[in-house]
Amino acid sequence: MSALLTIDGVSMRFGAYQALDRIGLEVQQGEFVALLGPSGCGKTTLLRSIAGFLKPESGRILIEGQDISRLAAHHRPLNTVFQNYALFPHMSVLENVAYGPRRQGASRSEAAARARAALDMVGLADFGPRYPREMSGGQQQRVALARAIVNQPKLLLLDEPLSALDLKLRKRMQLELKHLQAKLGIAFIFVTHDQEEAMTMADKVVVMHAGKIEQVGTGTDIYRQPATRFVAEFIGDANFMAYSASGDGTLLLDAQGLRVPFGNLAAPARGVAVLRPEDLRLSDDAAAARLTGTVTDVINVGSHSMIHVDIGEQTVVARHGGIAPSGLGPGAVTGLAFEPESLHLIGERP
Ligand code: ATP
Repeated sequence: MSALLTIDGVSMRFGAYQALDRIGLEVQQGEFVALLGPSGCGKTTLLRSIAGFLKPESGRILIEGQDISRLAAHHRPLNTVFQNYALFPHMSVLENVAYGPRRQGASRSEAAARARAALDMVGLADFGPRYPREMSGGQQQRVALARAIVNQPKLLLLDEPLSALDLKLRKRMQLELKHLQAKLGIAFIFVTHDQEEAMTMADKVVVMHAGKIEQVGTGTDIYRQPATRFVAEFIGDANFMAYSASGDGTLLLDAQGLRVPFGNLAAPARGVAVLRPEDLRLSDDAAAARLTGTVTDVINVGSHSMIHVDIGEQTVVARHGGIAPSGLGPGAVTGLAFEPESLHLIGERP
């Protein structure tokens, strides 16, 4: 069976600027996909190409095997939720949601019934008579969502739909959206530059950089097994140490000339080893410590603290659960321990 959505070699250029560079991606029925990347990487351009608001210069976009590249936006079996919700201020909530079915020729009562069902779905069953200005930001967001699902599209595109909300509400809406998506069974493609948001909600995270896809995987995959240095840097905090693998099952790290056992003999001969801060622990046991250095900064954030340690050639960061131990201020000398298995190796590109 073909995928719900297939993006096949899509490229897009604005003048001399290559905004999308031969993008290939598949989205399955009912899947929740996040397009994640820094500002300007092409997320919105890709979303707008799928929606039909932009015309890629090459490549094809298929839904269930049918090429929709030439279909006008309003004929595509999908819908878009925009950042600013784009609700009609002079219409009631019910009228806003019923607008789509009415335009498609449903009778007034049929459109209202479908709008009520969609409002019920997003938890706003009693809000039909209100006007958008009488609703909170989170409620308006849900109205926009109800309006987008009322025609039961196969695919919903969401362009940073939570960015106007404050952090607390945003976190709540992330989970609400995720539950709603599971209930609806509609595939979602969600644009965000917030890695935590992507990892909270999506089954599949697509990391983009400079018009290209860097990696596609679950949140855990891209965090634990980043394919490139860009992904490792973009997703969470990371320490990088150049390494070379000896054929004898050890790795030689540039950092303090440290040699560690490493069982994976298929490791690329040289490259960069990624070590997450939570895998690096403070240790005053000289036998366990692999690195030693001088503390430069201690950042306490309540639930945990980040300890920056100068190890000579570079500064590394260790994550410590809870408040940092007293006495561990700048200038303190500390040992740092880690398990070699927690190193993730990224080979040098040929
Ligand atoms: P953000 O998170 O900031 O919205 P994005 O990843 O969604 O970023 P896009 O909006 O897809 O980025 O833009 C990709 C690149 O293409 C940017 O460098 C942008 O300046 C450029 N671009 C987008 N639209 C146009 C346009 N209509 N004309 C010229 N350049 C454009």
